Amino acid sequence: MAQRHGGLRGARIGSGPMGESERGDLAPRVAVSFWCGNGHHSRPRFAVGVEVPELWDCRRCGLPAGADPDNTPEAPGSTPFKTHFAYVLQRRTRQDGEILLNEALAKLRGTF
Ligand SMILES: [Zn+2]
Repeated sequence: MAQRHGGLRGARIGSGPMGESERGDLAPRVAVSFWCGNGHHSRPRFAVGVEVPELWDCRRCGLPAGADPDNTPEAPGSTPFKTHFAYVLQRRTRQDGEILLNEALAKLRGTF
């Protein structure tokens, strides 16, 4: 009986395939700081080589944020916050909205 005991015991932790970090699936990234007019600090990360935008939408309040904390960009217009309705209008034309509304009303009336 030739029993082979050495196989598993010989496999050392760390002897597996190496080089996971060299395969390029983890692109190097660089964090860039942006500050909005409300003093919020955003630190989005960009892949190295990607052009970093001049302005960044603040994740917390939606104001445009710039790279200079002492000279934050002006808020466009007087309503930096977009309402849900504004987003809906962005996605659909008003005509689409009326069609959807009519369909919804027809459903409510049981005639659709
Ligand atoms: Zn902000």
